[in-house]
Amino acid sequence: MKALQLVAHGTPGRFERRDLPTPNPGKDEVVVAVKACGLNHLDLWLEAGALPIPLELPRTPGGEIAGQVESIGSSVMGWRPGDRVAVQSNLFCGECEFCRRGEESLCLRGRILGVQQDGGFAEKVLVPARALVRLPDDVAYESSAALTLAGSTAMHMLMNRALVRAGDWVLVVGGASGVGSAAIQIAVQLGGRVISTGSTEPRRALAQQLGAQHALDTNSANWPEEVRRLTGKRGVDLVIEHVGGDVLLQCFACLARGGTVVTCGATAGREVTLDLWPFFAKQHRLIGSYGRNRYDLEATLNWAALGRLKPVIDSIVTLDQAPAAFAKLRNREVLGKVVVRSQGD
Ligand SMILES: [Zn+2]
Repeated sequence: MKALQLVAHGTPGRFERRDLPTPNPGKDEVVVAVKACGLNHLDLWLEAGALPIPLELPRTPGGEIAGQVESIGSSVMGWRPGDRVAVQSNLFCGECEFCRRGEESLCLRGRILGVQQDGGFAEKVLVPARALVRLPDDVAYESSAALTLAGSTAMHMLMNRALVRAGDWVLVVGGASGVGSAAIQIAVQLGGRVISTGSTEPRRALAQQLGAQHALDTNSANWPEEVRRLTGKRGVDLVIEHVGGDVLLQCFACLARGGTVVTCGATAGREVTLDLWPFFAKQHRLIGSYGRNRYDLEATLNWAALGRLKPVIDSIVTLDQAPAAFAKLRNREVLGKVVVRSQGD
């Protein structure tokens, strides 16, 4: 089978198109014929070798997989060849105390698909059967590959880690990103009034098209003041944030008393210095969010099937074009998701 493998870290990293043996499923595993796989910042971190976990090369990146079950292991129940599936990319053990209560994103033995084991930038991928989620008939493979990772990340942030009450002001940072574009749509449908941010005019226009009432230019240093002005000096109830660094600190300046910042990702920096006086005096909350539970993935796909959550697709590329797509995403030239199709190129 064809696979795109990262053979050396860097920006850009070195990729090779390889012919690998078709995997055989162990007793609890399945082989999925990959139909589409989304490209994410996580793939860029793998490319650069910039993750705080041990990384081994060569590695086939790609965690946002949609496809068809091709073969199943001897103990696998409930799945048949031909079933349409999406794959839960934060692989979980299914046995630890957190998995047993449905909090697979807290799994003690969690592994990231496409980072710690070979992912979906290939014709086929080997995954544990418990990582499969049924793909509704109404959701195209490309839509699933553009929604499952970022969309379920946003779903987890908004439905599991925090709550949106009708009428709440919600600030979604980076509204044109994968997480941001899903977060805007989810927050609006939960009754939130959304303010978003974007670094370019097309990004801000997209955020507003998705339902944000206002989209602010993050190149202007005083955008947090603009958030306060728009909310009658009050500030927002909830911030959905995935940038980190100084942006995380600016989010606190946008926050109402008793408000909450939910953060994941931290593409702009993982270390910040937080002034604790306003933090406790205004009774702010900072909540971490990591990955998703199967439930979040199922909810994302169900919302997609109902037309409540729409993917924003920048482009669909072949396996051969994928390394160029990594560069495009790194250079922030992508509006929406890049989806890689590994079949038939
Ligand atoms: Zn577990």
